[in-house]
Amino acid sequence: MQPPLHMDEGKRVISGREAQRMIVKTALEVSDRVRSTLGPLGMDKMLVDSLGNQLLTNDGATILKNLEMKDPVGKLIIEVAKAQEARYYDGTTSCVILVGELLRSADELIEKGIHPNIITKGYRRALDIATQFIDDESWHADSPRECAELAVKTALTGKSAESHLEHLATITVDAAELAKPHNIKIVKLAGEVSDSRCVDGLAILNRPCLPEMKQKGKGGILVLDEELAPPQANMTLSDPQRIAEVAEAQKAYLQNRLSYLTELGIKAVICQKGIDPRAQEHFSREGIMAVRNVRRSDMERIAKLIHGRVVKDLAGMEEGDLGSGEYDVKETYITISGKGSGAATIMLHTPTEQAADEVERALDDAVGVASLLLDNPVTVPGAGAIQVMTADAIRSTRPHDSGKIQAAVEAYAESLEIIPRTLAESGGMDVMDTLLEMRKEREIISPYMGVDVIKGKVASMPDVVEPSVVTSGAMQAATENVIALLRTDELVMAKKLKGQDAP
Ligand code: ADP
Ligand code: MG
Repeated sequence: MQPPLHMDEGKRVISGREAQRMIVKTALEVSDRVRSTLGPLGMDKMLVDSLGNQLLTNDGATILKNLEMKDPVGKLIIEVAKAQEARYYDGTTSCVILVGELLRSADELIEKGIHPNIITKGYRRALDIATQFIDDESWHADSPRECAELAVKTALTGKSAESHLEHLATITVDAAELAKPHNIKIVKLAGEVSDSRCVDGLAILNRPCLPEMKQKGKGGILVLDEELAPPQANMTLSDPQRIAEVAEAQKAYLQNRLSYLTELGIKAVICQKGIDPRAQEHFSREGIMAVRNVRRSDMERIAKLIHGRVVKDLAGMEEGDLGSGEYDVKETYITISGKGSGAATIMLHTPTEQAADEVERALDDAVGVASLLLDNPVTVPGAGAIQVMTADAIRSTRPHDSGKIQAAVEAYAESLEIIPRTLAESGGMDVMDTLLEMRKEREIISPYMGVDVIKGKVASMPDVVEPSVVTSGAMQAATENVIALLRTDELVMAKKLKGQDAP
């Protein structure tokens, strides 16, 4: 028999059962890191990086992104979380917890002598039942707006945004009605959360270079990442004649560029660097609005929004670099919007910087959730209800497979219940009692019994809803990745494993 552990050209190779154990162990380590953050009563984590920067967060995806995992399995799980976030904006913690639990159950089955291929079959079958069931059980709302607001409130619960849930939910859905998530910007400002609002267009906190510049316009917009000034003369001159010559050359150079821009017929210049006072005067005279010192992150966003590109060198400008859109100068900001593509900005006021970052992360998820639901207002009951219902549906589907496959199907159902179990734990509730009660009450009171973590009891919670695609997407992603990991029987590690000595 092949030894489980051997060295291969300086790399560490783990194979067979040993590799599977290692995978399960790592997956559980990663999921344990985020488990305690799940749900409204999830705990916050303080992350401190190597430079001593602190970050207090309850967001599973953020914690995972900050885990410096060198282990290939750990990395893969973090990728799963990122993929879930990129696709569905929410449900990342649930997805990772599910990966851990499905692997743990698989490991138990392997211990009992069931081959990973059989488990894979059972898991796939259970996933099919689950997906179908969620499809059938989903609620189709008449009012996408109301549906989005409800789900946004669920997504924001427990994310240090609670005290202004209604207000934040309203502006989040406003933003999602105006623009797609990638065109929604969040600007963090000091103040009271209740002053937060949604603005039509991408807002930048800049002022036009000169107050007399045009305040509103439409047409070509140049997004420039270059100082709009004559080139610096790198020499020491004492001859006044020479100095005048150089100054003249500089002026001509600048004039040349400005004439070029005027000929292009642009209506606004958004510049990341400085703009020479002569250029400012010129733009003002020509009815062109110009702003300088615009943030780098805004530059890219604006360029995309107006279907142009950030220009790094005016002399090398190409067709398609110049975008087109509208700008509107307001009292403390300027909004920009693109032709045919909506943009929105959430002006988020918070009393502290720390709160700002955490609410921003929560709003990022929430904006995505709102957008998904405005397009397709289909939800499932949250608070662990859908997982209990789905698990029941899986268990009660008549088995048409071998006993061993059926064992895996049932293990899958049980694994789904990790979500209500974790929620119950976070609320200090008895896990076994909670699940038993949920099942019992489902038959008597309502099929949608959830874990009311705040009141510490099982209750029907019609206001706690999640987009169906987030819930079933998380199940699918977790299952697919678990299956891929179950197929792995060799790990090649570049580095020595912690706590294990080379043979
Ligand atoms: P994820 O990253 O998976 O979205 P969250 O920390 O956002 O993790 O927690 C989501 C879970 O919390 C979902 O199962 C959701 O149904 C549940 N949840 C949200 N609001 C409530 C609530 N008021 N009561 C109970 N559970 C809730
Ligand atoms: Mg969430």
